[in-house]
Amino acid sequence: MKFRLLLALLVLPLGAQTTPFGTKVSDPASAPATTTAPAAGGVSDEFVDNSVQVSPFRPTLLPEAKSTRTFQLSKLNRLGSTESTKELQRLYSAFATQSIVDGSPAGSSKAVGYLTSVTYSILQDLGDNRYLAKAAWPASGPNEALAAGVDTMALLLLEKAAKAGDTGKITGMHVGTVAVLFTPDFAPLKGRRLTLRREAFLECATLEDSPAGLQRFVEAITAGAELSATTNETIPCKKCGGLGFTREAQKGQLLDKRVPCADCASTGKLIISVETKFVP
Ligand SMILES: [Zn+2]
Repeated sequence: MKFRLLLALLVLPLGAQTTPFGTKVSDPASAPATTTAPAAGGVSDEFVDNSVQVSPFRPTLLPEAKSTRTFQLSKLNRLGSTESTKELQRLYSAFATQSIVDGSPAGSSKAVGYLTSVTYSILQDLGDNRYLAKAAWPASGPNEALAAGVDTMALLLLEKAAKAGDTGKITGMHVGTVAVLFTPDFAPLKGRRLTLRREAFLECATLEDSPAGLQRFVEAITAGAELSATTNETIPCKKCGGLGFTREAQKGQLLDKRVPCADCASTGKLIISVETKFVP
């Protein structure tokens, strides 16, 4: 299964030899932005190197959760517990947008990159279901960590075979930037051997955010699946205790001086990324 291959490969340390997008070159950071080495004498009778090399260039960097907590299903709606049906639904919605459907026992795995909707028009088939495409996608991730793409070339790994000129829309998981060495067969670059650095997306399916999906989610946790969702949560600022200022004793004065809290910009609140782990 392609997803699992990708998931397995993406967690390999640098030095791994292959990725689902192709063979890794020695040092991706040193790869030139564009190597233009036109095939001498044109493309007709001469030998044209049509081999394709795709190497990881810059992996997706997901933000790390600043804090973790546990959601215990057996405490659901118990008096005095924070585990409510409403909270479970909210967390499941987040989980659904951060997971991809695959063949794992839980039926899904955590997405290793941002999920976004990619509209595309295929420019060239690079083999192994990899395509160079004109693509567009909205920004995604917290603080738009993945910037939007507008009419830009991108590398796509599609589930089904396609051909140049095909258009479509997929849910794409951003898997970082890759360097692709190939020979374009489209104008105006036709026949010129070159390397492009482009964002790469893997076609995937996300979980269904529905009561049935939530039901399966709960069953998977009860059966022992280790699942978690990451959300942004507002918490009281620890430094100032949620007041927005700290007190400083003034020598010879009855009243303390109030010092605005820099940690929370005097709001008394902080927004942090929290990973919630679900347990039976
Ligand atoms: Zn504060």
